[in-house]
Amino acid sequence: MVLLSFDIWHLSLNSMVKKDYFIGIDIGATNTKLGVVDDNGKIVNQDVISTKEYTPDELLLELADIINDFDFKIKGVGIGVAGPANVKEGKVYYFVNSPGWDNMEVAAKFKLLTKLDTYVDNDVNVMALAEHCYGAGVNYRNIICLTLGSGVGGGIILDNSLYRGNDFVAGEIGHIPVVPEGYDCRCGGRGCLERYVGNEFIVERAINKIENGRQSSIMGLVRGDKSKITPRIIDEAYRIGDKLAEEIWIETGKFIGIALVGVVNLFNPEIIIIGGGIAKTGDILFNTIYDIIKQRAMEIHKRSIKVIPAKLGEVAGIIGAAMLARQRIESR
Ligand SMILES: [Zn+2]
Repeated sequence: MVLLSFDIWHLSLNSMVKKDYFIGIDIGATNTKLGVVDDNGKIVNQDVISTKEYTPDELLLELADIINDFDFKIKGVGIGVAGPANVKEGKVYYFVNSPGWDNMEVAAKFKLLTKLDTYVDNDVNVMALAEHCYGAGVNYRNIICLTLGSGVGGGIILDNSLYRGNDFVAGEIGHIPVVPEGYDCRCGGRGCLERYVGNEFIVERAINKIENGRQSSIMGLVRGDKSKITPRIIDEAYRIGDKLAEEIWIETGKFIGIALVGVVNLFNPEIIIIGGGIAKTGDILFNTIYDIIKQRAMEIHKRSIKVIPAKLGEVAGIIGAAMLARQRIESR
């Protein structure tokens, strides 16, 4: 009898202190990841579905179905998207590599489907939030985040808050010009960083050098098929001592470093966090970037600057989106 009443008391206490959770969704061009994140940034449940299999409306419906089946006390939803977004209106301007999202009011639509407050932001802003809260940027107030992949994105944290700019689209480090009269860029600009260090353009530089007669073990690794060259193959060649691959990474680091000299002089950050596929190349890239900043940035600005790899990897999008929801709800 005593035991039973203790159990009832224990049960009701448990439901009274039921923890708060946030949903983080990371919609990429290929996959969409969804996670339930607790108040300490820990993912307690996650799922992944293919973005490409659905239209945008179908995708939101599918995600809502997953969430509506959860038995968690969910306070809100954050969504990171691979394109510029207006966090205030909960609207996606467009997706970089998926059609059908233009000017979609994603937050309002998702709230209708789930009854949960929903917030939307660009994926690199979301990654910057994650790294600031629980990753490489913990304990820093002024942080620049850079992601290197098919696109090159940036996130800026100033005095502990994300800087979004007038139209919520600040942070486009990938579209800082690094070459006067350089190649045309998809953004409408010219000579942008992304046009030299985005995945396909790293490959393009390697192919140009090979076509100009340079010898490289890259060609052996792809059995002579240039269309199979990827940044990963270039890295593989670098690791077996290939000189051309080494040159590609040094050039890549220089382009990135030059853009970051401007960023360091402009924002005076404490730390630069770099993530994304080619960040895995490691020392050669990070050392080249750091050396360029140390050579060229202004004296006081560069004194204590650190350039370090991102820590959260693949789950940064989920954790950061959940943190976006938490921050927006707490600041209401
Ligand atoms: Zn551009």
